[in-house]
Amino acid sequence: MKIRKIVFSIIAFAIIGLLVFFLLYGSKKKEINSEQKVKLVSSNFASYDFLRAITKGNNNIELVFLIGPGKEAHSYDPTAQDLIKIGNADLFVYIGGEMEKWADKVLESMNDKNVNIMCIADFADTIKEQEVDGAEEEKEKEEEEEGAFDEHIWSSPNNAIKMINALEEKMEEIDAENSDLYRKNADEYINEIHEVDNRIQSIIDNKKRDRLIFGDKMPMQYFINYYNLKVSAAFSGCSTETEPSASTITYLEKIVKEQQIPVVLYIELNNGRVAKTIANETGAEALQIQTLHNVSLDDFNNGETWISLMNRNIEVLSKALQ
Ligand SMILES: [Zn+2]
Repeated sequence: MKIRKIVFSIIAFAIIGLLVFFLLYGSKKKEINSEQKVKLVSSNFASYDFLRAITKGNNNIELVFLIGPGKEAHSYDPTAQDLIKIGNADLFVYIGGEMEKWADKVLESMNDKNVNIMCIADFADTIKEQEVDGAEEEKEKEEEEEGAFDEHIWSSPNNAIKMINALEEKMEEIDAENSDLYRKNADEYINEIHEVDNRIQSIIDNKKRDRLIFGDKMPMQYFINYYNLKVSAAFSGCSTETEPSASTITYLEKIVKEQQIPVVLYIELNNGRVAKTIANETGAEALQIQTLHNVSLDDFNNGETWISLMNRNIEVLSKALQ
């Protein structure tokens, strides 16, 4: 039928027309966007959070948290897609060390790319990895070079502030137009960090004890040092093991009982099984502390920050140090 043919042709033309329009317009639009957007990639959560705070209010920022929420940072390995993201970035921020060994490989492949690369640990006060009281020896650790730095740099307020200032200066370099905004945002965030620091400090000033017990790994040495606390833990900061030996558990239980320590800690992304075992055995309470080694998916989706997670620790610390 003739009419059918005509209708069909009209529809076909319309579809082709729309397709052509979207292809042209769509790709053009994408091109403009990718030219304007300032692309930032951070391996770890703390730098991601600080960059998010510094660039707040600038809609032309594309910020990627590479390792991603809810994941074990120590077992991360970049995918091919991650490598493309880093290669296309204006700024790539990483920590390096044992935790981010993969970064060496990435950096090698970046030689010919126009990416600002920033090892944020260079801008923080770093300490050598310390032995943690009670922590199990790790088999893999034996081969590790002596004097490796502790890469969990973000947990002390002074390092957080140093990281923010360094990231802010880098943002001014990359995107000078928005310098004022970045400085203002950074100063606001630093003020909030001082407030959290003061709140924690007042708990420290009124503490009845100074030892924290982790029925878990302990990636918070900078925090411990900053507040002049002592710590015993089942594992050191970087351990990927989750099953402590009977003697480790017995050792920690002994300290908890002897010193009548009220709280056994476990960290984010852990169900606290070991801490609960120790707590049950000793009459203590098992509580989760946020080390910001990573965030859970829920916390990430709720927009939790260094500040809000540290604030969550305040109640935990006041119980643990009583
Ligand atoms: Zn770690």
